[in-house]
Amino acid sequence: MVKVIFLGTGNAFNQGGRSSSCYLVQGSKNVLLDAGPQVLPGIYGYGLKPSDIDVIALSHLHADHMGGLPFMMLDDKWITKREKPIDVLVPKGGPDLIERICSVYYSQEEVDHIASVFRYTIFEVGDTVEINGVTFEALPALHSAEPKMIFMTMDGKSIGYSGDSAYLEESILKLLEADITIHECTSFNLSIPNHVNYEELSEKISNLASLGRVSASKKIYLSHVDESMEENKDKIKAPFVLVRDRDEVEI
Ligand SMILES: [Zn+2]
Repeated sequence: MVKVIFLGTGNAFNQGGRSSSCYLVQGSKNVLLDAGPQVLPGIYGYGLKPSDIDVIALSHLHADHMGGLPFMMLDDKWITKREKPIDVLVPKGGPDLIERICSVYYSQEEVDHIASVFRYTIFEVGDTVEINGVTFEALPALHSAEPKMIFMTMDGKSIGYSGDSAYLEESILKLLEADITIHECTSFNLSIPNHVNYEELSEKISNLASLGRVSASKKIYLSHVDESMEENKDKIKAPFVLVRDRDEVEI
């Protein structure tokens, strides 16, 4: 069985007390899709420890998606002390950015620990990477900071995750082939550059369904949401599901 636990379903602003982007996929490995700043309370709050995490795949290099990595490094240096590093899938420039952030926050001794806790694999649009039997495919996304959508397969089950992106049909069609599809939905009806809102996404998916290009009943889990999504929760209809922190879905 593979399970997705929504550890962080908010965006960069944490409205409603939601944590920033972080999704735990549990199967033969424990994988994090993104690691926002609240990754440590997310992991501990779910009853796991940082040492339980095997792989982290980053959708892009914005702080609400990767800002937890400095905290994970610091935790490992002084508390967790893992015996083998976490595999981290990052775009080019990611390792340097993480080092620069840690250099501002922490001592050189702590910065030097990065190499012991993170083992980087460069992961960019078009790449398919396999880590210990788990595969990750990077799909195009319309955002900034080296964006990508992620199609992940573990134990024969698949998860499609949009990261942050405006509507991009070619990638969404692929995400919808997954057993579980998670799409960002930053607002109910505000047009925000490089993001999608519920009214737009529901209209586009409805059109695809009427053309027979996607199943009308395929659930789409909406995350990376602001307050307006909660305020309009009664208007969110199937196949869409508004998720909240610590919700779980089994495949
Ligand atoms: Zn974001």
